[in-house]
Amino acid sequence: MSESTSLSLAAKAAALDAADELAPLRDRFTLDDTVYLDGNSLGALPRGVPARVEDVVRREWGELRIRSWTESGWWTAPERIGDRIAPLVGAAPGQIVVGDSTSVNVFKALVGAVRMAQEPLPAPGVRDEILVDATTFPTDGYIAESAARMTGCALRPVAPADVPRAVGPRTAAVLLNHVDYRTGRMHDLPALTAAVHAAGAYTVWDLCHSAGALPVGLDAHGVDLAVGCTYKFLNGGPGSPAYLYVRRDLQSRFDSPLPGWNSHTEPFGMRPDYEAAPGAVRGRVGTPDILSMLALEAALDVWDDVTIDAVRAKSLALTDFFLECVAAYVPEGRVEPVTPAAHAERGSQVALRCPDAGEVMARLIGKGVIGDYRAPDTLRFGFTPLYVGYAETERAARALADEV
Ligand SMILES: *Cc1c(COP(=O)(O)O)cnc(C)c1O
Repeated sequence: MSESTSLSLAAKAAALDAADELAPLRDRFTLDDTVYLDGNSLGALPRGVPARVEDVVRREWGELRIRSWTESGWWTAPERIGDRIAPLVGAAPGQIVVGDSTSVNVFKALVGAVRMAQEPLPAPGVRDEILVDATTFPTDGYIAESAARMTGCALRPVAPADVPRAVGPRTAAVLLNHVDYRTGRMHDLPALTAAVHAAGAYTVWDLCHSAGALPVGLDAHGVDLAVGCTYKFLNGGPGSPAYLYVRRDLQSRFDSPLPGWNSHTEPFGMRPDYEAAPGAVRGRVGTPDILSMLALEAALDVWDDVTIDAVRAKSLALTDFFLECVAAYVPEGRVEPVTPAAHAERGSQVALRCPDAGEVMARLIGKGVIGDYRAPDTLRFGFTPLYVGYAETERAARALADEV
């Protein structure tokens, strides 16, 4: 790279940082001078979390003990925290419940969707096929295979763009990732949801790589069911519980394949027969993991007074700027962006194909630039607009150029 290019991009970064209205939010996190571009795998620690966790452990558990299930609001935490996530994914209250892992929620949502589709239909016909995103994060595919076997369905992997052609009268449900974890490509949620509905089938969207990074619009686009994790762009901490969205008008028909006592209409009635509770609570299973759940609740405080539209605008500006720096600094042909250039098709990460990606990333991490590597040849750089700035983005591209 020429010195003048690097000086001008550094100057541009400084100007962008100076104009960045979200820049002060970085102080809401515990960070240091490493360039942290892995918030799409594990979000950084929000400053308010340690004190809250300490309080939950020492006072709520240590002193109040079992009284905390009611007095500290432990019992209702899954619905309460679901309502805090709701505005970030465009959902009205009462449709999201927090708990379990994304994998488990994929199972609940997909089997629930197939059961809805297989209810006695007004028109004759059988729905005995599940379509799954052929490029899905692996766990969704494994769970879909098992769900298909359990429900007597065939499982058909389909590239998301081909779903409108593939979905048909035998399709029960379609499981899609909103943003591809490997390439960072965002799929067209409104159009794909509409295509699935036109065929009379149900959608299950996995929002792991979109929630907290860009507007999802679950209610606006009529999504049926959705799941997502909270430890990526929602910064809930390692293994923080996932969430399940069931659209309000479908809740009474949601027949969970994991009907635990927490989703019973009368959980403390200790009845031998199961009767599903109304509302989002129907997505619960067993006793919630309170420590992780309340850490997540405190982590969500960083969103107070932040709009997801502002986050999206910055995410696109950051990823544009990173791609510009990479193009300027990295020798021609050394890396190849696989993340779409078009904003309408981009999530909040930049993925670069590089034959020796594993070794390159190990060296970058040694230099304090933290991204990650996905086999066999992908460098991933995640951009969390709440705490990533432009100067460090330029620094990451410069370090990448040095290491390749
Ligand atoms: C991160 C991720 C998961 C993770 O599932 P867990 O059950 O939390 O391990 C699932 N699906 C997608 C698309 C992901 O990106």
